[in-house]
Amino acid sequence: MSFEVIALPMLQDNYSWALIDHAQGKMAIVDPAEAAPVSQLIVQLGVTLAVVLLTHHHADHIGGAEDLRRQYHCEIWGAAADQYRLPSLDRALHDGDAIAFAGVTGKVLAVPGHTVGHLAFYFAAAQALFCGDTLFSLGCGRLFEGTPEQMFASLARLAALPPATRVFCGHEYTASNGRFALTVEPGNADLAARMAEVTHLRAAGLPTVPSTMGRELAANPFLRTASPKELAEIRKMKDNFRG
Ligand code: ZN
Ligand code: FE
Repeated sequence: MSFEVIALPMLQDNYSWALIDHAQGKMAIVDPAEAAPVSQLIVQLGVTLAVVLLTHHHADHIGGAEDLRRQYHCEIWGAAADQYRLPSLDRALHDGDAIAFAGVTGKVLAVPGHTVGHLAFYFAAAQALFCGDTLFSLGCGRLFEGTPEQMFASLARLAALPPATRVFCGHEYTASNGRFALTVEPGNADLAARMAEVTHLRAAGLPTVPSTMGRELAANPFLRTASPKELAEIRKMKDNFRG
């Protein structure tokens, strides 16, 4: 038993991820910024929407959630800590909670940094991590609410997952992240190879994600810092980077 993952591009550069349980004809959707692309996929596949999973409270991740619940009577699951600024939750999640979809058990990971209530969802048997705006391919989320210490710990937690884990992040930021990453680690051959691939994929109009944790460990400078202080420094440089 497992699920297929389909990328749904939304807004400017967001990805919402549709998890499809083909055996049961069910769908779960992670971070629907908009409802319409999800509805289209539901019709196309002839599946039932069971649950909306929210990684964090930003509008570009929750914008379509209420509409979808109204239309499909699905549930909305998100962080208990952020209940006051999320759509009303049918299930309020805490760090370490077990969730399940398509017979696959998922683990809820609290990964504060980008926001304080940010969650990631890790399905070990599916080798799939949905990490919102905490970890991006070749980058990480801006520290809007959390501290460098929190983000450092969150990234370390994700970095400890198996290298084969597929990293389904919230945005197509890989090319600009990579241009910045090359200024931090100009001699990193894995990064150079990844950027060659990214350039090729983007030229063909294809997504650069999912990445894998192993590839991120080799090429993502934000996973390769030695301390919260170092992370804070390169995060600040990235905030000011134009490229
Ligand atoms: Zn965000
Ligand atoms: Fe976002």
